[in-house]
Amino acid sequence: MIKKVLIANRGEIAVRVLRACKDLGIQTVAIHSTADADAMHVRLADESVCVGPPQPRESYLNIPAVISAACISGADAIHPGFGFLSENSTFSHMVEEHGLIFIGPKADHIAMMGDKITAKKTFSSLGLQIVPGSDGSVSNINKALKIADEMGYPVLIKAAGGGGGRGMKVANSRLDFAEAYETARREAGISFGNDQVYLEKYLANPRHIEFQIIADKFGNAIHLGERDCSLQKRNQKVWEEALSSVLTPQFRDDFGRKIARAVGELGYCGVGTLEFLYENERLYFIEMNTRIQVEHPITEVITGIDIVREQILIAGGRRLSISQDDVKFRGHAIECRINAENSETFMPSAGTVTNYHCPGGPGVRVDSALYDGCKVPPYYDSLIAKLIVHANDREQCLASLRRALREYVIDGIDTLIPLHLKLANNPDVIAGNFDIHFLERVYKGNT
Ligand code: ADP
Repeated sequence: MIKKVLIANRGEIAVRVLRACKDLGIQTVAIHSTADADAMHVRLADESVCVGPPQPRESYLNIPAVISAACISGADAIHPGFGFLSENSTFSHMVEEHGLIFIGPKADHIAMMGDKITAKKTFSSLGLQIVPGSDGSVSNINKALKIADEMGYPVLIKAAGGGGGRGMKVANSRLDFAEAYETARREAGISFGNDQVYLEKYLANPRHIEFQIIADKFGNAIHLGERDCSLQKRNQKVWEEALSSVLTPQFRDDFGRKIARAVGELGYCGVGTLEFLYENERLYFIEMNTRIQVEHPITEVITGIDIVREQILIAGGRRLSISQDDVKFRGHAIECRINAENSETFMPSAGTVTNYHCPGGPGVRVDSALYDGCKVPPYYDSLIAKLIVHANDREQCLASLRRALREYVIDGIDTLIPLHLKLANNPDVIAGNFDIHFLERVYKGNT
């Protein structure tokens, strides 16, 4: 059993993990950069260690500093949260080498899914449909052009090591292929240290649908249904829903069991998310994330299952406490990502929160690390809070969401609250009528 966890993260996810640890009676160690000395996750932890200056490379991504902090504080496990080191197989390997538990899957599985080409090949061989595209990476422009011509335009050029909605370029025709291809390769090399790219058919009107998976060390793997994350800006999710209105209960059950079996066959252990694009009533696999997702709370509120708690228990060697037949879905949930960004321009906004009022009432959950007077530093991801609303059905959920958004006060910095209010009042959103390009189409000037 794990007794003390070091949380190798910051912000709302560090607070979320802390809460799960406290509920389990586990001691907590926060790490922080000098910019985060007064941050909420530091205040709530039992102990804290400063791991370096503000720049992530020197603090939250500094592997020797993070592992040393775990060793000197006597932690027996490290929870990576999401982002930062969460999908770094070298890190997870080193954690285990130091006799600590990495709260996540095995390093081999992180590496396998971190390479999107290998991930697609793996799940294709396990019987899932994948988005049509090149068979592996294409490092020669002439070959790439030939494949694109055969596939038909528009074509998407994607980085094998990409993530976070970055490292993708669309070629709408043969004429702009060369430039898109070269730019994608160059940017992939700079951003991910791996300039391998592959091609995919650019789907015209898909929805983004993803399934939550949990698996233990004993070969038990279950799914917790899906989330619809189609409302995105620049390929990054801003609004997520569970369940999706486009899947029937029968489809969900059959498909969910099928992918849980596939994950079980891989010997995968921990939580994970399989992401798909949904078009013409088909789900096409695009990638698997081997960590807790930002949007996990909407699955938690509709299933009543604390996913982070399960994740920690499984890493400590426990069996899954739930079977597939125990998983029941109740009502509808929506999550709005409250980023510190301007709602019109999406420019990041740093500064001091001068007035903070958090919404409450029936069905409202807020996961954040904000407090009155806290600083939002410019060095990190702009996600500062998540508003999660749960109700008996989608209509009631939207009504409670509008109420909660109007109550939410975060002064001193720009946030996406005004954009979410617009979305929550948009007739197409209300009708559930959207795909991944919706936000770009409707708020064109903004994206
Ligand atoms: P990342 O790992 O960077 O998040 P993903 O492969 O998960 O990259 O894709 C992110 C988003 O980009 C998807 O949710 C979708 O909106 C868009 N996208 C990805 N692949 C395609 C595709 N083949 N056609 C159209 N849109 C796509």
